[in-house]
Amino acid sequence: MKVGILQVGQVAPEVLAAVEEGLIKTFPDTTTSLINESLPVPEHAFDKKRGQYNSAVILNEVRSYAAKKQGFHRVLGVVDVDIFSFGLNYVFGEAYTSGAAALISLWRLKPEFYRDKPDMALYTLRAKKEAVHEVGHTLGVRHCPRSLCVMHFSNSIFDTDKKQNLLCDECYLQAAIAVANLG
Ligand SMILES: [Zn+2]
Ligand SMILES: [Zn+2]
Repeated sequence: MKVGILQVGQVAPEVLAAVEEGLIKTFPDTTTSLINESLPVPEHAFDKKRGQYNSAVILNEVRSYAAKKQGFHRVLGVVDVDIFSFGLNYVFGEAYTSGAAALISLWRLKPEFYRDKPDMALYTLRAKKEAVHEVGHTLGVRHCPRSLCVMHFSNSIFDTDKKQNLLCDECYLQAAIAVANLG
């Protein structure tokens, strides 16, 4: 699987490198490349009442980009603004199930967001988990009931920290079959 990493607005380069490493280590036959252009954060995604950006609107921009850009099976957008999905106060990311595009937000992955001291290792580990989780969805893998599996739904950062940056055997098998079918 060839995954393009697309910055949406300004994103910390250390985090992008970690995300690439996480994807390569988790999925079989996978390579990544950092796309050397970035998308602006779409201002029409901003919800003034909530003071947050609509995840679906940004994800749709990533999908449009993925549809135009040749050479990638999947494009993962990485944004550093607070995103929400209707019915949820916030989300860490969103993806099209069995689709070409996924999105993660770094905003709530920083320890400082929770008034903890900065910790780059923790921050990048969280980003890896969320990236693997969303790319997993693009391969058709759904939420997993096992709380340690990276495909477990994260309701809060506690869930993200609890789960491992690994697919359980069942989710791995599903992902591997989907990767093999990409051709
Ligand atoms: Zn999910
Ligand atoms: Zn699982």
